[in-house]
Amino acid sequence: MSATKLLIGDHWLDASDGARGTTYDPATGASIGEFAEATADDVDRAVAAARTGFESAEWARMTPDARGRILWRVADLLEEHTPDLAVLESTDQGQTQGIAAGVTLPLAAQVFRYYAGWTTKIEGKVSPVSIPDQLTYQQRVPLGVVGIITPWNFPLAIAAWKIAPALATGNAVVIKPAEQTPLSTVRLVELMREAGVPAGVVNLLTGGPEVGKALVRHRGVDAISFTGSTSVGQEIARVAADDLKRVRLELGGKAPSIVLPDADIDAAVIGNLQGALFNTGQACGAFTRFFVHRSRVEEFTQKLAAAAESLPIGPGSAPETVVGPLVSQEHLDRVHGLVQSGIEQGARLVTGGARVTGDLESGFFYPPTVFADVTDDMRIAQEEIFGPVLSVMAYDDLDEAVARANDVDYGLAAVIWTQDLKTAHTLPPRLRAGTVFVNQLPLIDPGAPWGGFGLSGWGREMGEYAIDEFTETQSTFINLA
Ligand code: NAD
Repeated sequence: MSATKLLIGDHWLDASDGARGTTYDPATGASIGEFAEATADDVDRAVAAARTGFESAEWARMTPDARGRILWRVADLLEEHTPDLAVLESTDQGQTQGIAAGVTLPLAAQVFRYYAGWTTKIEGKVSPVSIPDQLTYQQRVPLGVVGIITPWNFPLAIAAWKIAPALATGNAVVIKPAEQTPLSTVRLVELMREAGVPAGVVNLLTGGPEVGKALVRHRGVDAISFTGSTSVGQEIARVAADDLKRVRLELGGKAPSIVLPDADIDAAVIGNLQGALFNTGQACGAFTRFFVHRSRVEEFTQKLAAAAESLPIGPGSAPETVVGPLVSQEHLDRVHGLVQSGIEQGARLVTGGARVTGDLESGFFYPPTVFADVTDDMRIAQEEIFGPVLSVMAYDDLDEAVARANDVDYGLAAVIWTQDLKTAHTLPPRLRAGTVFVNQLPLIDPGAPWGGFGLSGWGREMGEYAIDEFTETQSTFINLA
């Protein structure tokens, strides 16, 4: 079996010791390919290549317009290759074709186009200093070499939403995708080179946590942009403290959904189900805790469970599939362990709760699982499950619902369901969440910031915020005397 290679500078290479890792199709458990497993030497060489790329006249002196054209071309190539990339993402990650071709690929292309437009709009300021005869201005300058570390749930989209602003602002990057799902990132990097990204400006290291750790420790890396679990994010922040590397962290979530008494229950059931089961619940913004007014909680629970049971489960490649597999056996065991904890702690299991068997047994399939009578102290109410597990809780008054919704360590997303205009506008600022949705499933758009409070991380991605994240402000004083 051939293995994908590392990209270091201008060269596609095997790992320096020839080591390889294997990636699997979560729908069947079968191996689908191998990838080079980078060594510490490879990390050194990739970082050195990125430094050379960053400082090269070709990149450093490239006009914003030319840089923007390259990013735009990446978007075009992503669109041209959507059918094969969507199959690759679905086979490696488990995403349904609807998500891979309908969300992941369009979003990745849109992000490259969005930041292609920004290259010519990154403006500075002139400061009115009170020292005589001075012209003092600020400009945004790139950070240098940025290490990008991504998770397995949306490999291509998340790589795109970090790489595009990092390059739009003139940095060079070393990207390390998750070991479970490297294939679409390898292809993205190939397309970036084809689009004209100069040698050394994008470098690729595949491999596991050791590769990520080496990148974070590396003194030649100026910044780390990480999306992944909270525990790894905390470790990265600790290690990066040694050289005060710039760190931005997109971590876990435990989004609450507050259903007010006036909500359209049928719309809330469908929207909540979509928001909870998007990518089989393997989404950081997934809705997980459903606070429903006591007057409507039983109706909501029964309708939610019935709708959940009706959803087709199957491989991402089958057009009718709505609920695909979980990414790995290890992850399935973790999700099931949390479901067991819910039962042991006294929650009422309404539907689901055991691995899918029969024809799908060789894959990592877990059915939508609905719990009722969940209390705030249960593990399923506090910990990120990252699977198709929905916990319904009753509340009596809105202040109580808000306090309970905010009573977790995470603060990434939240949703409210109401038909009252005033509530729709006054409730969001009371919620400790980076993004609040009203009467809809979670959405991501390059024009709107994304990030969280508390253990959901540091900083914001997307929009103008990402331009700030990938640059430093530099002041220049010119003596006019
Ligand atoms: P993970 O933290 O286990 O791994 C993420 C990446 O970090 C992988 O590439 C991995 O190899 C690497 N890594 C592991 N240990 C490392 C270390 N010590 N130092 C440096 N790199 C290391 O996360 P995961 O299981 O791949 O992804 C799921 C998590 O990602 C969930 O918690 C989810 O909420 C989070 N996530 C957050 C967002 C967001 O926008 N906030 C988006 C998607 C996923």
